[in-house]
Amino acid sequence: MKITIKRFDKRKEPQSIDMNYPIFEGLTLLENFIKIKTTLDPTLSFNGVCRSGVCGSCSVMVNGKAVLACSYKPKDGDHIEPLNYHEVKRDLIVDKSGVQSTLITAKTWLQSDAKKENANKVEVQSSCILCDSCFASCPVMAVNENFLGPFTLTKAYRYSIQGDNRETIDLIQQNGVWDCTLCGECTLACPQGIDPKMDIMNLRSRSVQAGYCDPNFANMSFGLDFTQGF
Ligand code: SF4
Ligand code: SF4
Repeated sequence: MKITIKRFDKRKEPQSIDMNYPIFEGLTLLENFIKIKTTLDPTLSFNGVCRSGVCGSCSVMVNGKAVLACSYKPKDGDHIEPLNYHEVKRDLIVDKSGVQSTLITAKTWLQSDAKKENANKVEVQSSCILCDSCFASCPVMAVNENFLGPFTLTKAYRYSIQGDNRETIDLIQQNGVWDCTLCGECTLACPQGIDPKMDIMNLRSRSVQAGYCDPNFANMSFGLDFTQGF
């Protein structure tokens, strides 16, 4: 029984390499990382602080799916990689600052105290642990690096329920609500039970109420060939 971990250290080798390690049965993936580091390979680098699904720091890709390493029991043949769409610092450690800067773009980070107080009414969105699993699962990020991404949009929804939400709605029109494919991968990935896809659908409704419409609508033919006339 073994797992494969994608290793990367640009100081030694500019290309990543896959390395195999035995599975320590009965342990979580994060506990396996710790065991590997303390008994087999002290050079393995990874994040993991709380070990109980609270801090969100240990998220990685397992066979292409984002998971919290502290909540996952590894299986024979699993392939472990750093989170998609993040700059890799070393091995499984990534730089999350680029992703979290999208919160600033949508101004969902800098909210007034009064808004934060009201926002507590939306408890489920408040439980986000910034693990980036939803972001790493989103196929739109592969084709549009400027897409705001699911966790910023779910926070935008959290704040859009406030009385004065016009600025939030305005800021999510470009590379935001209309660029989502509604595939639901973000919802499946979230360890906190947050549903970014539903939040994005709600934001679309709010956008329409604010006078916006789907910019893709103009390009849809609905199966009709208007060049032939009627
Ligand atoms: S539903 Fe939208 S935001 Fe969520 S993963 Fe799919 S494309 Fe990305
Ligand atoms: S919405 Fe869920 S998956 Fe996305 S960062 Fe927050 S806790 Fe993680």
